Amino acid sequence: METRTEISSLGEFGLIKRINEKIKTTLPDTIRGIGDDAAVIDSGEEYGLLTSDMLLEGVHFDLTFFPLKHLGYKAIAINVSDIAAMNGIPRQVIVNLAVSNRFSVEAIDELYEGIKVACKDFNVDLVGGDTSSSRSGLMISVSVFGKVGKEKIAYRNTAKPNDLLCVTGDLGGAYLGLQLLEREKQVFLANPNMQPELEGKDYVIQRQLRPEARMDVIYELESAGVIPTSMIDVSDGLASDLLHICAQSGVGAVVFEERLPIDEQTFLAASELNIGPITAALNGGEDYELLFTVSQASYELIKNNPKITFIGYMTDKKDEIVLHTKGDSRVPITAQGWT
Ligand code: ADP
Ligand code: MG
Repeated sequence: METRTEISSLGEFGLIKRINEKIKTTLPDTIRGIGDDAAVIDSGEEYGLLTSDMLLEGVHFDLTFFPLKHLGYKAIAINVSDIAAMNGIPRQVIVNLAVSNRFSVEAIDELYEGIKVACKDFNVDLVGGDTSSSRSGLMISVSVFGKVGKEKIAYRNTAKPNDLLCVTGDLGGAYLGLQLLEREKQVFLANPNMQPELEGKDYVIQRQLRPEARMDVIYELESAGVIPTSMIDVSDGLASDLLHICAQSGVGAVVFEERLPIDEQTFLAASELNIGPITAALNGGEDYELLFTVSQASYELIKNNPKITFIGYMTDKKDEIVLHTKGDSRVPITAQGWT
């Protein structure tokens, strides 16, 4: 009998690893294939960058609380974020849609309204795509082409011991925003007369529904003359994404708990939902901030940038990725992708 292996036994990362092992690139201008935030293509003067991400109804979004306009915006932003994570500039996007007859023309107009705003915000051109009917629900898949100067590219596998570890913005908000929205949905389903209690929670809700790609920081690093020694965007959670940098670079890391940037609203939502704010910051996901390392010489050049927090440093102790707690103990940082 043929063997059947459950995908859940590999997990997302195990599955990608397995695909990667079977694929070998052969073209001389394919500089980097599977394994980073975007593929890297030699285009002469510069490198081209290519990346893709899809959002599926019922898996990545729930239309009972996700406005279509925001969904369109998010689909572009999370793809631009992967170009940012290579220290690149996004240029063109392609949008693939699968829609069921549940959706009206007006609904698709709304989705494209959000796509249009994002294209303007991130200065990219929408240049094509594909449209199909779907038996169930909505699927939106976006691919982005970007570019980066060859000497400026930031990979995941080039962090060095003693580099400083930095993160942009704050963490954990998007996850808690989602938990709040899910809770309000349950309350509403139980009693449709209930009004949602989301006052004073606008920031975390916005973190979930309308994430930003941190292109602003990419331009500021450029002005400061800083090229990260490695970079990734925080899509799966700080822990998971830091583990990617460490594993691929062959280094360890120390992260200081008290340095983790967490917004006031994130703290409040965490306590209301009985979720540890540090857990949300480490494992929450979907914040789409940038996690990067810089050489110590770069410290002076960006230490005053309020969008950047120095949260730790890299070590030569491969496999030792630890959280230095407020109580001065050290606990291993572990992570999972989706299963
Ligand atoms: P990100 O979170 O930055 O979008 P992913 O974790 O989705 O990255 O993907 C990691 C790497 O695996 C990327 O290089 C991506 O292009 C590649 N990848 C993901 N899914 C597939 C697939 N089905 N086939 C080939 N490569 C894939
Ligand atoms: Mg990424």
